[in-house]
Amino acid sequence: MTGPVLTYLGETKLELGPAEGMEGHPWRRAEADGIVWLVLDCQGSAVNTISEPVIRGLQDHVAALEASPPRGVVIRSAKQGGLAAGADIGSFAGMSDQGAADLLRQGHEVLDRLEALPCPTIAVVHGAALGAGFEIALACDWRIAIEGASFAFPEVNLGLHPGLGGTFRLPALIDPVEAMTLMLTGKTAHTKQAKTLGIADLVTQERHVRAAIEAVLDDRVDRDGRGLKARALQFDQARSLAARKMRSETGKKADPRHYPAPYALIDLWERHGEDRAAMQQAEIDSFAALLDSDTSKNLRRVFFLRQGLKDNARGDDDIAHVHVIGAGAMGTEIAAWAAIRGKRVTLGDLEPDALAAAVRAAASLCKDKHLDGIETRDALDRMMPDPKGYGLARADLVIEAVPEDADLKERIYADAAARMKQGAILATNTSSLRLSELRAAVPQPERFAGLHFFNPVSKMQLVEVVRHDATSDAVIGRLTAFCGAIDRLPAPVTDYPGFLVNRALTPYLMEAMVLMEEGIDKAVIDRAAMDFGMPMGPVALADQVGLDICLDVAESLKSALDKPMPPISDRLRARVEAGETGKKAGRGFYDWSDGTPRPKTDEDGPDDLTDRLILPMLDACVECLRKNVAKNEDEVDGAMVFATGFAPFRGGPMHYARTRGPAEIRQRLDQLAERHDPRFAPDPGWADL
Ligand code: NAD
Repeated sequence: MTGPVLTYLGETKLELGPAEGMEGHPWRRAEADGIVWLVLDCQGSAVNTISEPVIRGLQDHVAALEASPPRGVVIRSAKQGGLAAGADIGSFAGMSDQGAADLLRQGHEVLDRLEALPCPTIAVVHGAALGAGFEIALACDWRIAIEGASFAFPEVNLGLHPGLGGTFRLPALIDPVEAMTLMLTGKTAHTKQAKTLGIADLVTQERHVRAAIEAVLDDRVDRDGRGLKARALQFDQARSLAARKMRSETGKKADPRHYPAPYALIDLWERHGEDRAAMQQAEIDSFAALLDSDTSKNLRRVFFLRQGLKDNARGDDDIAHVHVIGAGAMGTEIAAWAAIRGKRVTLGDLEPDALAAAVRAAASLCKDKHLDGIETRDALDRMMPDPKGYGLARADLVIEAVPEDADLKERIYADAAARMKQGAILATNTSSLRLSELRAAVPQPERFAGLHFFNPVSKMQLVEVVRHDATSDAVIGRLTAFCGAIDRLPAPVTDYPGFLVNRALTPYLMEAMVLMEEGIDKAVIDRAAMDFGMPMGPVALADQVGLDICLDVAESLKSALDKPMPPISDRLRARVEAGETGKKAGRGFYDWSDGTPRPKTDEDGPDDLTDRLILPMLDACVECLRKNVAKNEDEVDGAMVFATGFAPFRGGPMHYARTRGPAEIRQRLDQLAERHDPRFAPDPGWADL
């Protein structure tokens, strides 16, 4: 039986042998001109992930190669996407420390044997080599990168560090400080950087792979040895100094109490940086311990929450042309992002200046997103300023993003509906108006829905896809598929005041302002939230969102909900009246002229400060579940993490509630209600958790 021919291998055109031995064997093998090709091809999946069968399969092949070494061994992937997307994260679930350590030891043994083969071993990498995939490539003698290849250790995002030898093989290969930076940040080394750093020995195109392999085997490729810096870092003192600097840099981004993995990695390197055997043992023990930590379990949960939201986007995207009405803060970003992601976009506004500014902002977004010259030109070509709204007649989707004024929006809908083509969808980006009221102005309400993006669209991945009582399922399906196509995460929600995210976030922001009225310093409030794990405190966040927008949303929620909300603070109104609306005005509660403010204080607030901020947010999530605003707890958690940055290491607000215990939280809310105000009274939904 012959296996498939890997046509994309260019000249190589190998006939690959069948999956060998056991059912589901992920490696395929071919031999030509004395070279053995081991091609990773995990079955039943579009991408390779490194799992126990991959390691066991490699073990079998390595044993055969030891017995009869060929002229050379090439490792590569049969998947278009790349070598591997990292370890199979799902397989970690339920694994004990001991089980993980045993599996890791087995993996280490195989990679050590691969490394020790007497013949040259070459990893040919196209696409992404992530995590354990990168580690397999590092165990080879040589790495040939095909243009577009990239290498990264994203483990830190899952509360882990590399566990299959990456912690010692990468620092042994390239400048150890650069190696540590890659592992500590999870950042990607794209082809050019990978070559500069020394990760890739050669960069070539697919059609020249065979020639590149021959050049390596004929010893015609030079590579630089480890530099001076690497030699200096062999000394403990130099490493300690560098480790101290790494700790301080890492401390700016990750609190060691919440994110222990990067600090564990720095400790490993400081202690064992030049003793490979000790480092190997320590890496296995440290990885197994981190795997069992709550942080890593919760971050892996967040990884799956993202997958769950992505799954909402399944279905065919049939939106080719988007027309955006309103080139303000949101409309500009929505239009630019959709154009970058390949959509044809027309953008309308009454103000020519707004359209000109939108084009400039789009160009700068392309730069931020590292688009090259051609990609930038193509994205900007796809985004057309359209002051007369000609695009309305051709668009498959019209997104309205004009100021939060129901009369204005309704007038726009009447005009747009008369000009839109048959079957097109009308969506609003409103944050706080009720769709059930706005829809009265729309002739075909089944094709009207909310598409609630978060600011800035290019960074905040979530989009709430809001249905009202007449929106058709087909329209929701088309909108979620559209979100997937532009690489955003859709959370379908119902038309509830504030939908899910603003309903939950607003009491948190407003409570912060009540606390300020009570005389607590804003830095103390913000620090309490950040100590809990929020990326930014509520006062700074309100400034970032825009105090005018916060006020709008708070007023609208206050009138629409049948529950008490925190009173709207006079300070908030005063700032808005003075035009001090936050980051966009350069000043709100904080001065933003020197960038993002950092709360500096050693003072602790009252003992119930954190609960006063966080528990009302949890309570609103429980209310939304009770009212079926979101499908389930996972969707609530995913939405809150990806729209607000809710402490990812806690796994989301509902997961935090589950961990702390619903009964305890309910009791605490009762206490807060008694001590402060009935607005803290627990939602009846807690009783069902
Ligand atoms: P904005 O004031 O920055 O921009 C609105 C734009 O609409 C302006 O450029 C204005 O000239 C234009 N406009 C006004 N009337 C128009 C008309 N008749 N035809 C065409 N254009 C017109 O507002 P924004 O902050 O971008 O908010 C837009 C919408 O998005 C609002 O519904 C808001 O609630 C919602 N939203 C805002 C944020 C945020 O953080 N800013 C987040 C999520 C949702």
